[in-house]
Amino acid sequence: MNYAMNKELPLLKDCLICSKAKKEGIYVLGTFICEECEAQMVRTDTGDHRYAIYVDRLKMLKPDLQGGEERPVQK
Ligand SMILES: [Zn+2]
Repeated sequence: MNYAMNKELPLLKDCLICSKAKKEGIYVLGTFICEECEAQMVRTDTGDHRYAIYVDRLKMLKPDLQGGEERPVQK
């Protein structure tokens, strides 16, 4: 009997875009995006309404990217 498999469960991460747990993907701005969504993003035209959704999601993560005023980091 070999139980090694049980110890090596694939680490699933939730995709930012489709919210599904995926194993394969990339990290954008420290956020996981599955390879399917990443491929879709690349193919999506910037004029496509879906592209705006992608950008929106990323902005939610990193408000700094919106180019607003700079706020001093408080610790
Ligand atoms: Zn996805």
